[in-house]
Amino acid sequence: KFYKKEGGRQMAVLTNVLDLKMYINGEWVNAQSGKVREIVNPANGEVIAKAADGDVEDARRAIEVARRTFDEGEWSGMPAVQRASYLFAIADKLEEKAEEIARLETLDNGKPLREAGFDVADAAACFRYYAGLITKPDGQTYHVADPMQAMVVREPVGVCGLIVPWNFPLLMGVWKIAPALAAGNTIVFKPSEVTPVTAIKLFEIIEEVGIPKGVINMVMGPGKTAGNELAESPLVDMIAFTGGTVTGRSIMRAAAGNIKKISLELGGKSPNIVFADADFETAVDYALFGIFCNQGQVCSAGSRLLLEESIYDKFIERLVERTKNIRVGFGDDPNTEMGPLVSEAHMEKVLGYIEIGKQEGARLVVGGNRITANGLDKGYFVEPTIFVDTTPNMRIVQEEIFGPVLVVQKFKDEAEAIELANGTVYGLAGGVFTQDGAKALRVIKKLRAGITWINSYHPTYNEAPWGGYKQSGIGRNLGTFGLDEFMEVKQININL
Ligand code: NAD
Repeated sequence: KFYKKEGGRQMAVLTNVLDLKMYINGEWVNAQSGKVREIVNPANGEVIAKAADGDVEDARRAIEVARRTFDEGEWSGMPAVQRASYLFAIADKLEEKAEEIARLETLDNGKPLREAGFDVADAAACFRYYAGLITKPDGQTYHVADPMQAMVVREPVGVCGLIVPWNFPLLMGVWKIAPALAAGNTIVFKPSEVTPVTAIKLFEIIEEVGIPKGVINMVMGPGKTAGNELAESPLVDMIAFTGGTVTGRSIMRAAAGNIKKISLELGGKSPNIVFADADFETAVDYALFGIFCNQGQVCSAGSRLLLEESIYDKFIERLVERTKNIRVGFGDDPNTEMGPLVSEAHMEKVLGYIEIGKQEGARLVVGGNRITANGLDKGYFVEPTIFVDTTPNMRIVQEEIFGPVLVVQKFKDEAEAIELANGTVYGLAGGVFTQDGAKALRVIKKLRAGITWINSYHPTYNEAPWGGYKQSGIGRNLGTFGLDEFMEVKQININL
């Protein structure tokens, strides 16, 4: 085991600092420069791993391997049912090692262990979903003009560069790796340089199940070097990225060189709209879960709460009361509801936004500070925070904070709710709470957003496409749409 109990406390600690290597052409390798990066447990600031810190040269090596392996055609030419069997085997092994992987995710990212456990279960389910999907019939035939018969077939895109962020380190990777592999592509994967630990576990599993070498490679390292090389390289056919909108823009530019296919899952500032006729306690539950789950570090977080005027004061009063009772602590304490933010730098960014909110004149009704009491002083803990009496042009209303900070907006009628809801550059997600079914659908259909809920917030399913409108992205993860992203379509016209 990598961890042990420390005193009477629930906090798990590693007995040794992990040594994380990159995986290229079926081998575990250091960065060619020999550089390593220290990986820190955000709950206590301790170094938990030293990770190979790759850059352009390492990315190039991995890309060349993926290119050659794709062109040799073994993986893409393998019967789909056989490729699927590898994916099923990965899912089984993820489940066998679920507890260890979840613990490592909590150590690396800080999230409550219970939530890390859900991530591992979801990752296994995602591999199974795409293993099943790839063996189902696809393609079409058309009887066009005699004597011609047209056949439409789908083929893998080729070499895919996959780049993911730190908020769901394992799961965001799997949302791309599973469909890309199922479709028959070869891959270079880059986890976030902040949270590479569970990627190593996944790649150990991939090695154990015996996927042919060269099919799936991993480079670690900074986005500006290793990541940018994936986006820029003419040998890469597609880039699938999840991360911030600013990074997405830079990837789009870099990908323009060889007109790569791109799929971008970017940021959000999603509205959660509560009408006066909503079930009050249900709406309160989801308003809190919508923003504070995963410490608010969720792209689809319901980070703007829109309240109808007549329930504004009462709803805020209840939110504040509930928020004060949220238990913030170490991720592997079973009582913990919210863990630390992922890094010191990110904590400073979030605290910076809280200052901006105060300066802009929003009213802080709960939270607003770093937490240092009860042994949390070495970690990056921030109180769950709520601002009310905001105006639409405030930065805290327009910009993604990506932390446990909720901003509340007031509306007087349906039309104003929709106008406010759509009033940012983002269009990722949104929720509506009302007991009037027709009104719920009317409002949801007016939202310029790709992921929506009625009388709920956050549940996510492998079957349903995930992605944003506007500056929240291009393309979709998950579902049949998520597989299509990793495939080309070819017409074959046959002269009978
Ligand atoms: P980020 O954009 O800083 O980094 C994401 C990844 O991109 C990392 O692996 C990073 O190394 C890499 N990267 C950075 N600069 C790069 C460059 N110039 N070229 C290539 N790669 C580069 O994002 P983050 O801070 O890690 O994650 C938070 C962001 O991710 C938030 O904006 C959040 O909304 C977004 N996100 C979106 C979704 C979604 O599905 N839409 C899901 C999770 C997170």
